[in-house]
Amino acid sequence: MIHDSARPCLSEALLDRCILSTLTHRASAPAIGVTETLWRGQKTVQEVLDRTDVLRAQTPQCFDYQLIVSAHQNFVGDATDDVSVARAEGHRVAIIPGCYDNIKITESSDFKWAEHNLRGAMKMRIGNGFDVHKFGPGNCVTLCGVLISHGSTLIGHSDADVGMHAITDAIYGALAKGDIGQHFPDSDPQWKGADSSIFLKHAVSLAHEFGYNIENIDCTIICEFPKISPHTTAMRQALADIMQLDLDRVSVKATTSEQLGFTGRGEGIAAAASAALVHT
Ligand code: MG
Repeated sequence: MIHDSARPCLSEALLDRCILSTLTHRASAPAIGVTETLWRGQKTVQEVLDRTDVLRAQTPQCFDYQLIVSAHQNFVGDATDDVSVARAEGHRVAIIPGCYDNIKITESSDFKWAEHNLRGAMKMRIGNGFDVHKFGPGNCVTLCGVLISHGSTLIGHSDADVGMHAITDAIYGALAKGDIGQHFPDSDPQWKGADSSIFLKHAVSLAHEFGYNIENIDCTIICEFPKISPHTTAMRQALADIMQLDLDRVSVKATTSEQLGFTGRGEGIAAAASAALVHT
């Protein structure tokens, strides 16, 4: 099967038709009909061409291997495709119904169309997560995997990393596979004081198990104190390392709640996160 690399929107259905036809005919290639009226001319129309039986050739052009190798070895001259080479040897080439999406990218606008087409075929899932932990006596908090000195700590069954919990839940949410509480119940003493990277790693491996890669993560931490912005780069790096992602796929940002509500009164920290997963 000889395929033009400028045609990235090839479908599995077309490949199946190509294989089936070539098993019978030894040589076959896809083509589509011409729907527009065809003219010959330059500045003015000189002639309207008969479009009966006129087809636009596509690839993959498919052959019995020995047939096409020998045709190429014996071919002299120029050809624009492999069908011409096979025909020069006297081989009959069966026509398979092609596919309109299987365009040859030629003009710059074709890139846009192809990108749209390929993204449309993409299987994507989105999830969100939200978590809250309250402050208690202590001297540091763990947020998105980074230890930050603070006049109090976050209370929780695990290390209370509220940001990482929101991200973990966003991934579970995208997969429609419950939440942290279901996978790691706080009634289970083995998760007491646990490093939250265990939860995040589990969510990521579950995504991989179902054939998804994490496209990107976005987390917003909501609190008045501690100040988050000096730590966002370290947080992004810590999360990227745990999830084995490039840094530019991981975003961490922060906001206050303008001193309103429980976060505004400094009673705790909230975090919201989104995750986008793309099927591989
Ligand atoms: Mg939590």
